[in-house]
Amino acid sequence: MPAPVRYRIFPINPAAHLFEVRCTVADPDPAGQAFSLPAWIPGSYMIREFARNIVTLTAECAGAAVPVEKLDKHSWRCAPCAGLLTVTCEVYAWDLSVRAAHLDTTHGYFNGASVFLMAHGRERRPCEVEILPPEGVRDWRLATALPALDAPAFGFGRYRAADYDELIDHPVEMGTFTHAQFSACGVPHDVVLTGRQRADLDRLCRDMQAICEHHITFFGEPAPMARYVFLIMVVGEGYGGLEHRASTSLLVSRKSLPRPGEAAVNDDYRAFLGLVSHEYFHTWNVKRIKPKAFLPYDLSREAYTRQLWAFEGITSYYDDLALVRSQRIEPQDYLQALGETATRVWRGSGRFKQTVTESSFDAWTKFYRQDENAPNAIVSYYTKGALVALALDLTLRCGTGGRRSLDDVMRALWERHGRTPTGVEEGGIERLAAEVSGLDLREFFDRALRSTEDLPLAGLLGDVGVEFVVRPAESAADKGGKPPKKSAAELMRRAVLGVKLTEGAEAKLAQVFDGAAAQAAGLAAGDALVAVDGLRVTKANLDALLATHWPGERVTVHAFRRDELMTFVVELQAPPMDTCEFRFMPDADGAPRAHRVAWLGS
Ligand code: ZN
Repeated sequence: MPAPVRYRIFPINPAAHLFEVRCTVADPDPAGQAFSLPAWIPGSYMIREFARNIVTLTAECAGAAVPVEKLDKHSWRCAPCAGLLTVTCEVYAWDLSVRAAHLDTTHGYFNGASVFLMAHGRERRPCEVEILPPEGVRDWRLATALPALDAPAFGFGRYRAADYDELIDHPVEMGTFTHAQFSACGVPHDVVLTGRQRADLDRLCRDMQAICEHHITFFGEPAPMARYVFLIMVVGEGYGGLEHRASTSLLVSRKSLPRPGEAAVNDDYRAFLGLVSHEYFHTWNVKRIKPKAFLPYDLSREAYTRQLWAFEGITSYYDDLALVRSQRIEPQDYLQALGETATRVWRGSGRFKQTVTESSFDAWTKFYRQDENAPNAIVSYYTKGALVALALDLTLRCGTGGRRSLDDVMRALWERHGRTPTGVEEGGIERLAAEVSGLDLREFFDRALRSTEDLPLAGLLGDVGVEFVVRPAESAADKGGKPPKKSAAELMRRAVLGVKLTEGAEAKLAQVFDGAAAQAAGLAAGDALVAVDGLRVTKANLDALLATHWPGERVTVHAFRRDELMTFVVELQAPPMDTCEFRFMPDADGAPRAHRVAWLGS
């Protein structure tokens, strides 16, 4: 039994946001032990170069300093030595996201990928990590799904992991957090909330429990983890989640949590429950059922796969679907969520330039590094992937007379590739869907995955008694999913520029859409609008100013580009057909009605 790799992490200076992190190897490589820090964190497909936050790094062996040579941006090699080798680094932790580390005098949080060095050649060894509180601090507790070695429950002390891969797959929160718990299918679940909030914790736990039990029974008991931890950072504005094998980190806005006494599910709380559902579904789909390219993860460089449409898109499909199936929301609310998803896809002409498999492959440089041109250039493998999953589910249901669905494909994936992770080959999900259903799906997948043609949603949804409507947006705030207050003819008479504004009060262009009036006139992202036909324009009055004009009319727009005032003549346009809605057909019966009941329970 080789000696474990031992780690120690200590918030050495919370006010300066510094963790001290040690890594000790008992039998260093005689040729010189190499170490590195991951360039990316699994689940977030972008090179983040966590090593840039290492402020100092030193090594010692048997009480003597060991020279360290830096090999590249995230690797080091210690001079040959015999006996216990300890590398000590100080890591700057001031990234309030679910992906890295954050430390101040109120709390500490870290993902192992951003703080723990990997000892080369020792990646498969067991790891032990001692986690300490800041000096003199007595009221902090600790929450993590890392198995304890001798640490008390929610306490500081020693934890263990089977190998480096596991070590960095259990984020850690420390501080004076709020804690609640529930059990789902016999598995204890901890809910840890950091940040000021006054959420109705009983309700939160009830709703989260229903969602977790839904997913566990969906894939079949027993659940693949003995315990699960939700680490929730509550902030004023924010949204994000990252999945792990037995926990998830969420960053959510305060307003998305239910206030005490509130019974309704508003749009913000629905989005929160959707995020919980999404990350929890990943416990199976991507943490255990993985693309072959992730087995094992190569954290030193990009790990390319064309399958993120499935691992993120199918997960995005089931996240909201589980809310209606577990009776957290009404079927009508589910159709609203679906309409918002479809609208996000229809709003970008990039969907005619990039397929979802290309979007998956280029996630590293495109989806994760979006600029102002993103809607014109790319499609999201999350949102379009979710629509592909919807289309596939309906194709399987209707094509097999209701005998098979995407649920069966997911369970087959779990049995074949997840229960014992074997990795899914490129194209593996396509072959399995065909095998499970007995259908020839080549044409379906060629169109959905390898072409930029819109999915045939109207026909597929018609077969389950749901109407798919695409219409112009009612206002700049129209996210789709809900019926408009105006008639179709009135909607078409609205004059638009074809832009998206930045957050804040200024009428500043965040995005200029391809083929739209603003682009044809020469306006560009970053331009700050000053006046329309001589009248001062703000974000609040832009819609109202344009409403005094008709599509086809020319207006003079003044705008600052950098510090230069410029004049543009814009020929206003009618709004594009880019807003989607799904409506129940009230008179659906027979097979469509039966398929719909099997799909949504309504
Ligand atoms: Zn995801």
